[in-house]
Amino acid sequence: MANISEQEIREVVSQVLNRMQTSTSDWDSTHYGTRRFVGIFADMNDAIVAANEGYRAVRAMSVEQREAIITEIRRLTRAEAPVMAELGVKETGMGKVEHKRLKHILVADKTPGTEDIVSSAKTGDNGLTLVEMAPFGVVGAITPSTNPSETVICNSIGMIAAGNGVVFNPHPNAIAVSNYAVDLVNRASKAAGGPEVLVCSMVKPTLDSASVMQSHPLVRLLVCTGGPGVVRAVLSSGKKAIGAGAGNPPVIVDDTADIIKAGKDIIDGCTFDNNLPCIAEKEVFAFRNIADQLIREMIKNGAYLISAAEADRLASVVLVDVKDKSGKTRKVINRDCVGRDAKVLLSKIGINVGADVRCIICETSFEHIFVQEELMMPILPIVRVNNIDEAIDLAVKAEHGNRHTAHMHSKNIDNLSRFARAVETTIFVKNAPSYAGIGFGGEGHATFTIAGPTGEGITSAKSFTRQRRCVMADSFRII
Ligand code: NAD
Repeated sequence: MANISEQEIREVVSQVLNRMQTSTSDWDSTHYGTRRFVGIFADMNDAIVAANEGYRAVRAMSVEQREAIITEIRRLTRAEAPVMAELGVKETGMGKVEHKRLKHILVADKTPGTEDIVSSAKTGDNGLTLVEMAPFGVVGAITPSTNPSETVICNSIGMIAAGNGVVFNPHPNAIAVSNYAVDLVNRASKAAGGPEVLVCSMVKPTLDSASVMQSHPLVRLLVCTGGPGVVRAVLSSGKKAIGAGAGNPPVIVDDTADIIKAGKDIIDGCTFDNNLPCIAEKEVFAFRNIADQLIREMIKNGAYLISAAEADRLASVVLVDVKDKSGKTRKVINRDCVGRDAKVLLSKIGINVGADVRCIICETSFEHIFVQEELMMPILPIVRVNNIDEAIDLAVKAEHGNRHTAHMHSKNIDNLSRFARAVETTIFVKNAPSYAGIGFGGEGHATFTIAGPTGEGITSAKSFTRQRRCVMADSFRII
């Protein structure tokens, strides 16, 4: 009989306990089954004071102790990924359970820890200068509904590795699963000998609690992952802020690409968690001479082609009119359609398909709202282009200057380089599904906070540090 390690036994026990807990009761922002979440406050001021205590505790720890907490966060995240995935879908109504599980495993395995914090020294005729990466103190983090617990855990690992305390103001529509993740981090801290409350969150996060966070003197760094509104708000807070904002990633497919692979990769990337990741493929610019073949390959991989008239009908459902302050009407995405299954979206315009349909594709003009808006739904418009100049011109325009993410399928290195240079995105993925850009099937570490506007890029522990210099003049050299 195979030997079972202590770790495997602990994971099985933890999963069984989780199942027992959900079967006996329900969940909200303060509890999951019989487990009451630790670190959740009714008042943002209290949460910040508690996060500051967490910061003081982390400061008193050795790096080895911090790393022990992070190791425990990774272990619990792997063990409880299925629970958070299921809760995330139940609470938000968005995304796919299996893909959310994979996102949690990615965070557990590929978010850098304390090894990311590297000091440097410079020696010369005038002695030695040491540069160390220090914590900010309490970080105020705003997190989205699209990758809620993934972002809380990813941010926590990086921010704790850097020596900070953290207070979260999560998205209200994903508060139970976000607070589940906050509690998981606190359980990991306690199990590894750290404080009981290391990171904090709110019972009921609001724009007011976000604004208290933004102006509180104990909060030294703001990290915001979300749409354009919230990124603008934190950038005008007067504090150091890291902004990870919206994208609208275009994909170019030229006539040198492996079209069979491109069709599969694009559908795999676009449908991952029903298109919720900000890096996911949102619109395709395909060379005219390969577009028919590309569409056939997409259909083989679970895409359903709708006509132009059907696309317009779908647009009138997945986008709704709102009046802005000046009384002008504009279209915004219908929140009830974000992250929903392709089958559900199609049923809204009277088309009934099986669950094997993963994605809705349609041919549109460049001006079509499906190209212009970041839908975050498994709907992929395809625009035919005549050549690389037109493809790059339109793809750059569709990206709207977010400088977030872009993709290309090609074997022509000149075309690849030209698009990469022109679009200036934080992530540029060549010949792979979008998620390769965050370490899933691609090299490099993972993050769910991609800071394009403020330039930190694929954030990790070092993004949450401030540089400090110590100078020893005329001494401490050994040569
Ligand atoms: P959202 O913008 O609706 O909400 C994000 C967070 O900001 C929530 O916690 C929300 O409560 C809060 N918020 C909204 N307006 C605010 C304001 N004025 N002041 C303070 N807080 C405010 O985002 P969402 O729908 O949950 O997520 C989707 C958006 O986020 C998409 O645009 C997506 O591209 C983007 N996103 C970006 C990244 C990235 O790494 N760059 C990652 C995930 C999501």
